[in-house]
Amino acid sequence: MRILVVEDEPRLAALLRRGLIEEGHAVDLVGSGEEALEWVDVGEYDALVLDVMLPGIDGFEVCRRLRRRRAQLPILLLTARDAVADRVAGLDSGADDYLLKPFAFAELVARLRALGRRPPETVDTLLIAADVRLDPATRRVWKGETELQLPNKEFRILEYLMRHPGRVLTRTMIAEHVWDYDFPNVTNVIDVHIRQIRRKLDDPYPGVLIQTVRGAGYRLASRR
Ligand code: CA
Repeated sequence: MRILVVEDEPRLAALLRRGLIEEGHAVDLVGSGEEALEWVDVGEYDALVLDVMLPGIDGFEVCRRLRRRRAQLPILLLTARDAVADRVAGLDSGADDYLLKPFAFAELVARLRALGRRPPETVDTLLIAADVRLDPATRRVWKGETELQLPNKEFRILEYLMRHPGRVLTRTMIAEHVWDYDFPNVTNVIDVHIRQIRRKLDDPYPGVLIQTVRGAGYRLASRR
């Protein structure tokens, strides 16, 4: 998933970022609610990890404003206060879930995974296209009976394609989904990754499963 972390406390922010990257997510980090609102506008995020106590507008207000604009984005609130009123305020403001500080990192990861599963397109945990199966939860992928070893970026590109069969995904969409904000000038990089994925998946019929749409991007064949 591509996750935006909104946390003004530098040490916790750095910890969250590092931990989530280790879990295979792409992570951007901002330190205020105003920045969060701006970044959500330009980035294609799959989830938001949002601290309540922020300089400027707080996490509740960020939630409310986001819900007015983008209903879909899953939001996990981090709160240091265990007051019932706060929890109610959090859920009322449109957050999907909240976590009390201090929290175990494993719990954060589990909650995020649950939120990531929530949209209709992600209900099926196992993604299937032709003879390729991909399990986002365990980050494993098989062709037929053979398990494949895909590096993180290749895995995430394939997962993104498999979540949107038949749909043309531009290189920009792929880049925004798989890389952090400061992705390289990625056109070539993406093509190289796609080539690698094809080499592993499409053999012996290259280009059948992952199709190139000239001048546009890539598309996963909806049927083979
Ligand atoms: Ca804070």
